[in-house]
Amino acid sequence: MREVIIAANWKMHTTPPDAADLATVIADRTNVVGVERVICPPFVCLAAVRDALRATPAGTGVGVGAQNVHHELSGAYTGEIAASMLVGLASWVIVGHSERRRDFGESDELIGQKLGRTIEAGLRPILCVGEQLVEREAGRAELVVAGQLRGSLAGFGDDPAALERAGLVVAYEPVWAIGTGRTARGADAATMAAAIRESISLLGHGFAGLAAGLPVLYGGSVTASSAGEFLAEPAIDGALVGGASLKVDEMAGIVARAGLTAAGRQSATEVAR
Ligand code: PEP
Repeated sequence: MREVIIAANWKMHTTPPDAADLATVIADRTNVVGVERVICPPFVCLAAVRDALRATPAGTGVGVGAQNVHHELSGAYTGEIAASMLVGLASWVIVGHSERRRDFGESDELIGQKLGRTIEAGLRPILCVGEQLVEREAGRAELVVAGQLRGSLAGFGDDPAALERAGLVVAYEPVWAIGTGRTARGADAATMAAAIRESISLLGHGFAGLAAGLPVLYGGSVTASSAGEFLAEPAIDGALVGGASLKVDEMAGIVARAGLTAAGRQSATEVAR
């Protein structure tokens, strides 16, 4: 049974005190059985969020994630953060977010290096992939996403089990749906989730096991009212939430809906036993 995960990407919002307060309230309002929650605040808020979560009983089940990481181990990279620096502050890392691909020219190869650094540091990666609108309209969405997966996972051909051990999560985030208020259709996102598993299984020997257990999240303008469309799809295991994750009521609604999915999976597993 694959996990159900709701990850919050706070992007460049909140100061450390705001982040601590928001994390506390979200933890308290989203304490739902069966849902893995992750909060990814800005780097400078990681410690405040970690401490705030430790201080509230509901916070123990909430993971903390970074929104990015540098692709080298250390060095003369002014203003950058290495994976080893995140240890103790975060246990998850988002890599390859489309805003970083777009604004910082991150390539699939570079994203693959970031994945490597994340895993070596013992952190759990959320790898983002997704097509542009013109690519979807041209019928190329699945090809584009398959290329992103190939490019960023190519370096793991000798050891795909490392990705499995690290608990790789893929977030399918169509670029045209991020921060736009537009969402994909649930059925299209589910088709893409299946295509993602299929593309990964074809990457080579040892990738089929990774693909079979791979959690795939949907991201792109998810709100409490749209979450059900995605979480009702068996191929989709949760959501990566941007704008709505800064609003307590939205997060409470999204995680509550995810709880229904988790409960449904649990009872299906019990019936099958
Ligand atoms: C994101 O930042 O990953 C995201 C999906 O943002 P939003 O929910 O605001 O579209």
